[in-house]
Amino acid sequence: MKKNKCSFCGRDESQVSILLNGLTGFICNDCINQANIVLKEIQPKQKTAHKDFSKVKPIDIKKHLDEYVIGQEDAKKSLAVAVYNHYKRISQTNNNDVDIEKSNIIMVGETGTGKTLLAKTIAKFLDVPFAIVDATVLTEAGYVGEDIESLLVRLLQATDYDVEKAEQGIVFIDEIDKIARKGDNPSITRDVSGEGVQQGLLKLLEGSVVNVPPQGGRKHPEQKMIAINTKNILFICGGAFEGIQKMIARRLNTHTVGYGVKEKNKEINKNNFLQYITPQDLRTFGLIPEIIGRLPVLTHLNPLDRDALRNILTKPKNALIKQYIELFRLDGIELTFTDDCYDYIVDKAIEYKLGARGLRSICEAIMLDVMFEYPSKKIKALSIDKKFAETHFSKTELNHILNA
Ligand code: ADP
Repeated sequence: MKKNKCSFCGRDESQVSILLNGLTGFICNDCINQANIVLKEIQPKQKTAHKDFSKVKPIDIKKHLDEYVIGQEDAKKSLAVAVYNHYKRISQTNNNDVDIEKSNIIMVGETGTGKTLLAKTIAKFLDVPFAIVDATVLTEAGYVGEDIESLLVRLLQATDYDVEKAEQGIVFIDEIDKIARKGDNPSITRDVSGEGVQQGLLKLLEGSVVNVPPQGGRKHPEQKMIAINTKNILFICGGAFEGIQKMIARRLNTHTVGYGVKEKNKEINKNNFLQYITPQDLRTFGLIPEIIGRLPVLTHLNPLDRDALRNILTKPKNALIKQYIELFRLDGIELTFTDDCYDYIVDKAIEYKLGARGLRSICEAIMLDVMFEYPSKKIKALSIDKKFAETHFSKTELNHILNA
């Protein structure tokens, strides 16, 4: 009987481990490996983002965010689209005249509503370098503080000084509202004299080659600089923009009166003006038009209500409660919480206006004694109810501080 042979090396079935058949011939495992090596050599080094964007779509990004971040539907959608477009832009082969512009993002929302969490989660999902920096450290040359370039130092450090990798990363600039032009804005306590810093930032946002002091801080003449091109770095800015709700309300009000569309006024949700934010409001707040132009994706985060806080406690993939359950499981103890215990924790977070960040401190306060004692006990199960939580919480330092 005629034996099948690899069409590339000519060896027959008995001489190879695997022989795959195609329409008119065969290929053996060795030839597949060989072909793979050749392919890798001739293909240009992949310069595109780490994720393969032919497979990941905005809907997938949003789905991933849903696993970690509760609510914030608008922000998730805007982020997913912006990030998707950004990395498509990076991988765009320049064979036509359409230049896709950078889609830097600005997120406006109260502190502790998930801005940083969103940015962090997206960067992790995309497997790109990520750095969080604080705009409040910035200042104009001549003042005490850091130069704009220092924003990139963290990113460099995150990649172990791999410039090429850093140039495709994401920088989250927190507290961007603090560099707004000083006006009647009460939240500015320090003279970082907004406008100059904003001018400096402009350069980074729009994409240019910047000389970065490798150790951060102020520039020293003798320091060797690292040149970084920010063209493909995605900037996500976040800020609470305290007081902006009033500005939005005022604008909406003027418009309604001015254009006589009183009917529309009825639909405005007065509990959350942030959802109506426009670039114009950022300008009223004190960002210069050029900066606003370089942050074309504007989105908002909603305040977290009781339901959201309760979900944050239990639903995300690495929810606090899941973490405690896992910690105890490792000690062979089956830990459970009752529903009224969740309500109690959420009530405390609301009572003391601690928001989502407070959930953790409250849980820690409740769990400390248990985590201290139970690993040494011969107990296989533990259920924590409201009464238990109450007793333990009232004993803690946190309770005393909050009630002080
Ligand atoms: P922001 O950057 O808006 O000030 P963060 O993203 O740092 O707030 O949120 C602080 C913490 O609160 C997060 O680490 C997370 O544990 C929790 N958190 C806040 N908002 C959410 C949310 N929408 N979904 C899940 N967890 C949240």
